[in-house]
Amino acid sequence: MRATVMFGAGDVRVERVPDARLMEPTDALVTITRASICGSDLWPYKDMAQTQTGRRMGHEAIGVVESVGSEVRTVRVGDFVIMPFAFSDGTCVFCHEGLNTSCVHGGFFGTESVPGAQAEAVRVPQADGTLYVLPGRTDEALMASLLTLSDVMGTGHHAAITARVRRGGTAAVIGDGAVGLCGVIAARRLGAERIILLGRHPDRIALAEQFGATDVVSERGAEAIARVRELTGGFGVHSVLECVGAGDAMLTAVNIARAGGAVGRVGVPHYAATPGSEPAFYGNIGINGGPAPARAYIEELLPEVLEGRIEPGRVFDRLVDLDGAPDGYRAMNEREAIKVMVKP
Ligand SMILES: [Zn+2]
Repeated sequence: MRATVMFGAGDVRVERVPDARLMEPTDALVTITRASICGSDLWPYKDMAQTQTGRRMGHEAIGVVESVGSEVRTVRVGDFVIMPFAFSDGTCVFCHEGLNTSCVHGGFFGTESVPGAQAEAVRVPQADGTLYVLPGRTDEALMASLLTLSDVMGTGHHAAITARVRRGGTAAVIGDGAVGLCGVIAARRLGAERIILLGRHPDRIALAEQFGATDVVSERGAEAIARVRELTGGFGVHSVLECVGAGDAMLTAVNIARAGGAVGRVGVPHYAATPGSEPAFYGNIGINGGPAPARAYIEELLPEVLEGRIEPGRVFDRLVDLDGAPDGYRAMNEREAIKVMVKP
């Protein structure tokens, strides 16, 4: 079969690889109908050391179950499924607490042992716990939004939940990438009255405003902090959704949170120590967040998508086939595309 392999920074190729196959009795084999390129795929695209073997990319997908192992009970051949970016058994103590990303039998797609989903097919460990079976036939027009439930929409929602967004509160979203845009949707859905987007790309800002952003701050660093404070009576916002993962974004996040507020961080941190520990301490600002338990959130978000109340699929502004994946990485990295969908 064919799959997307990253060999080093800026070096993504589509290669012939051994067919995905069942390895454990709890596995399912899924034929990918749609996958996508994630903002977090851009970190290795920028700095991965060159390798001979490469890394099989992709952790966001929807598809059809092709075969299942002997111990798979609930997922059946032919089911149309969402594959969240982390696999999980659905039965352990953390899965029961809704924290599937800490599953004792869990892990992430796109690693050496569990190859990624920007491919024709993927092996899904812990199929019963991992895969979310979609009900019945699904409208083609909904595919993009369903795909976002594998990661970005769940991640934006997690940022809002961990930033403790509440009805009537104020929120700021740092980052105008696909996760930040989904964070705007989530903050609005949870009732934030004012949603300030920190971003600087006109196309993304326009979409954020359609999703519910009420203000836009395009300054950076100290100027951005001053601007958000100015917009909020000098105090800052109750909830900050940090959707970037860079140290300066985190420092901004802490400094625009009002006393007693919270930061929900969902960007993979690219700093060794958390910036802003002193202002966070003196302001009693909670620093929360982590990898989103996307699997647990599908239950809540799916009806919103199916009934058209939210349209997170609008973050996709480019569709490529598998051969187009390398150019998709380039386009996202150069901010030419917000998010790229891959249709194998
Ligand atoms: Zn578990």
